[in-house]
Amino acid sequence: MGKGLSPRVKALVRASVADLEPYDPGFSPVAINLSANENTHGMPEEVRRDMSVALSHVVENRYPAPLATDLREALAEWHQVTPQQVLVSNGGDEALFNLFLAFGGAGHKMVNCPPTFSVYRLYAEMVETPVVDVPRDPETLLPDIDAIVEAAKDAHLVVLTSPNNPTGDCIARADMARICEACPGIVLADEAYSEFAPAGTSSEPLLDEYDNLVVLHTFSKAFCLAGGRIGYLLGAPDVLAALSAVRQPYSVNSFSQAAALVAVHEMGAFEPVIEDIVHERGWLASELSKLPQVKVWPSSANFLCVRMPEAGRKRAELRDEYSILVRDFSTTPGLEDCLRITVGTHEENEAVVSAIAELLAKED
Ligand SMILES: *Cc1c(COP(=O)(O)O)cnc(C)c1O
Repeated sequence: MGKGLSPRVKALVRASVADLEPYDPGFSPVAINLSANENTHGMPEEVRRDMSVALSHVVENRYPAPLATDLREALAEWHQVTPQQVLVSNGGDEALFNLFLAFGGAGHKMVNCPPTFSVYRLYAEMVETPVVDVPRDPETLLPDIDAIVEAAKDAHLVVLTSPNNPTGDCIARADMARICEACPGIVLADEAYSEFAPAGTSSEPLLDEYDNLVVLHTFSKAFCLAGGRIGYLLGAPDVLAALSAVRQPYSVNSFSQAAALVAVHEMGAFEPVIEDIVHERGWLASELSKLPQVKVWPSSANFLCVRMPEAGRKRAELRDEYSILVRDFSTTPGLEDCLRITVGTHEENEAVVSAIAELLAKED
């Protein structure tokens, strides 16, 4: 963090890059990693087997299908849209970057609702997009929908995360509709965690009504493929065509296309895993809530946002004394003394609860 560029390089780079803080996932090798919202249950065995077979048939001397034709068609069928309403990307992150590249830029206002995924602001700044922040309520961490609707009225891009990372709340579909209605520009519903949210919370059904809505999904969280880097957008064909125009032609490699295609075909195998994570989320929240020093916000995702005294130090102690990694948000404005804990397997969740309980007990 705070790794500045050398003066010589700083003089050469474009102005919007000179003061950027690189994205820092705060990674370090540990026994229990609950820091990046991955699916720690791992790939279901039968899916892994079929993926290995599919990967062994990949034609590696040819370029990949530029628009991931087979995967795109499978995703279209799954989401009941046309293939032209699907754009596959190298992780959701590539789709986000391309959104800013195509629709952001100098004079193109973007509405952001912090605290949220820090990558939005990073990409906005890279391409000189002016960012208007509509901050969340400091206590509930919920977004201010009326203020977002107001701010959306002259925006090129509104980014809404549902469930939000790192606060865990969803935006109601009716609120999403109000924002789409008010905004002359593009409204992104980032639904990277929607598989963990209650049924009926996704904004996807609004795609039929609003041609300025785009919905982001990823295989990195529920579908155990963070290493494969596969994300996709659903949206109106002409909006996605603008993103196709700015993307790198072969950004999604053949191996990842093949792996994700197997995941789509065997979607059912992930259901028990997702159900278990949702169940464990309830268990983890209730155990942590029993500790009087800890505040836990409700979450519809595979992580919890929690507040406790000296959170930054606790995070370091968890790492150094227990080999457990969680994500530190204690220096993020609005999230003072907050940590984000990924919901893991039952054993992992037990380990993090007892470690936090011990650390807190030491202080009394
Ligand atoms: C993880 C995440 C993504 C996308 O992640 P990829 O691994 O790049 O697909 C997008 N948005 C949010 C809010 C996320 O947490």
